[in-house]
Amino acid sequence: MLNQNNTIPCPVCAEQGKDTKIMIDTMLLIAGTQFTCPVCLAKVGIETNSKSQLDQTTQKFENLKS
Ligand SMILES: [Zn+2]
Repeated sequence: MLNQNNTIPCPVCAEQGKDTKIMIDTMLLIAGTQFTCPVCLAKVGIETNSKSQLDQTTQKFENLKS
């Protein structure tokens, strides 16, 4: 079973020696949602590179249909 509600350590706070946990929802993260650190307001999410790749794939699929 996937634990959907999870926390990840904030990478920005970690650089400053703080141990801040960001609440994330795994399903939303996979869907491309970004989560904001409550302390430094840094946004964490799936790399934009992989998201644009997904967009390209979607576009190719759209082209095939027309
Ligand atoms: Zn932070």
